[in-house]
Amino acid sequence: MIAVNTTHIKPDLPYLLEDEESVDILELQDCADKPVPLVPVDKIHYKFFCSLAGNDLVVTGEASFKIQTICSRCCDDVTQEVCVENLCLHFPDVKDQIVDITEEVREELLLAMPNYFFCSEDCQGICPGCGANLNYEPCTCPEDDDEDNDADQPKNSIDSANSPWSKLDELKF
Ligand SMILES: [Zn+2]
Ligand SMILES: [Zn+2]
Repeated sequence: MIAVNTTHIKPDLPYLLEDEESVDILELQDCADKPVPLVPVDKIHYKFFCSLAGNDLVVTGEASFKIQTICSRCCDDVTQEVCVENLCLHFPDVKDQIVDITEEVREELLLAMPNYFFCSEDCQGICPGCGANLNYEPCTCPEDDDEDNDADQPKNSIDSANSPWSKLDELKF
């Protein structure tokens, strides 16, 4: 739980709240229906400045955690940091209370997660033809894709054999 005790906050001095929290609060393990694995690792690190505006609590600062997943282009393992740099939360009328801000921080972190993760910005991905991971190995697709078309043509038909192109077809093999 991430909580702010507002009695600690002095009128003109933002109260620094810096700590780490278990990634369990993200409840990402419940997202089993996700198309790719999303496994948070280590801890959530946060650094918040808490201040009072009248009877309201204002929390600003940053929070981050790391996530293990796979690259959306090449399916390689990726560990990437998810960071909220300009968090700003507002809790009205909570003076002299201990305020649980866990759920709000969780939401901000989940919103900061990109829809797609990449192992690198210039990841070449996987060739849809031959399945080669183009970051490590060359594409082995045949350069001449006429082969497929030839296979569909009736090779022994009279028209094909007599056509002026039949000799050219034979030369290819
Ligand atoms: Zn990749
Ligand atoms: Zn290929």
